[in-house]
Amino acid sequence: MSPSITSKLPSIGPTIFTVMSSLAVEYKAINLGQGFPDYPISEELISLVSQHLKAGHNQYVHMNGLPSLRNVIAEKVFGLYQQQINADKEITVTPGGTYAIYTALTTVLQAGDEVIIFEPAYDSYIPNVKINGAVPVLIPLTYPDYKIDWDEVRKKISSKTKMIMLNSPHNPTGAVLSKEDIKQLQSIVAGTNIFILSDEVYEHLIFDDMQHESMLRYPDLLERSFVCFSFGKVYHCTGWKLGYCIAPAALTNEFRKVHQFNCFSCNSPMQFALADFLKHKESYIMLGKFLQNKRDYFMKLMTQTKFTPLPSHGSYFQLYSYKGMSNESEKDIAIRLTKDFGVATIPTSAFYKNGKDDKVLRFCFAKKESTLEEAVNRLMRI
Ligand code: PMP
Ligand code: GLN
Repeated sequence: MSPSITSKLPSIGPTIFTVMSSLAVEYKAINLGQGFPDYPISEELISLVSQHLKAGHNQYVHMNGLPSLRNVIAEKVFGLYQQQINADKEITVTPGGTYAIYTALTTVLQAGDEVIIFEPAYDSYIPNVKINGAVPVLIPLTYPDYKIDWDEVRKKISSKTKMIMLNSPHNPTGAVLSKEDIKQLQSIVAGTNIFILSDEVYEHLIFDDMQHESMLRYPDLLERSFVCFSFGKVYHCTGWKLGYCIAPAALTNEFRKVHQFNCFSCNSPMQFALADFLKHKESYIMLGKFLQNKRDYFMKLMTQTKFTPLPSHGSYFQLYSYKGMSNESEKDIAIRLTKDFGVATIPTSAFYKNGKDDKVLRFCFAKKESTLEEAVNRLMRI
């Protein structure tokens, strides 16, 4: 008999993304739930990977990430945010954005530390904080525009506050940080020992000519930040699970102590390929427009249904309200839409610890036009 185990995360089951994707497979539904594209990735990127596989780039690369990849990331950061980043000391390549976030939290948190998290929150944040023995301090974003209530943040800060977690563009709402948010954040953290974890995996997926307010733009914020990225979101290859963390040298030094005994080094042929491909600036500059067209196309199609859109300014996602259509809970309607109408979505309540239910579902529009058309044909029947 196995020894009995004391769970570190007793109340956690499989993530909502896994639950809804499994249901989509079971009922052969169109999956607008879990965030992943269904269109092909760049042919050029695929052939670069295969060239590097054949060239023998199949052994461990440097534990901090392939140096040429880190150099080109530093160039990209300079081009986008006018910030000089030291590729040797401040960038670490990671197996995805989620890992970068987990590692940053594990690097910083001590038992009993408090971490401010805004809800709805990406599903890994709270468990990542708890597994480190720290305490999530939850602050709701305002509904329905999903803004940060900075007065509430001021009230919730205590002597134990170790970190503030930010995510812009935001999953699941598509909200983005504004210049005013940055000013508020600057005034709150100035002179404190509070760290910032900034999840910027959707940095390029920002619409309507809005500017991405990266921590990398602001030296006074960057000096206390771990900024996390994902190549999965940049090049539509979510299954590659590669990303990186940018943080000041002293913070990166500690981050790497955790990283080296967990992952050590990431998949090499993909890093070689990305180091080449990332030199084409247009490959990421055009992304916002590309996804904005998809958001607009989906929104136009959705006018034929009874769902009401909430604004999405970035990410892969848009929330739609079904108020007036049904009194069911978000979870119940998401399951029914999958089973009876063949369209999977994500209940937004899954991003709240207490399951707050505003009757809104999250739709992923990072799909081929034909997929979106077929999904909306089905949704029109409701
Ligand atoms: N943060 C957010 C907000 C996300 O939506 C995702 C999506 N996957 C991630 C982090 C993680 O990215 P990765 O797949 O590279 O781990
Ligand atoms: N980020 C993706 C989403 O929000 C899912 C990634 C995952 O399944 N962990 O849908």
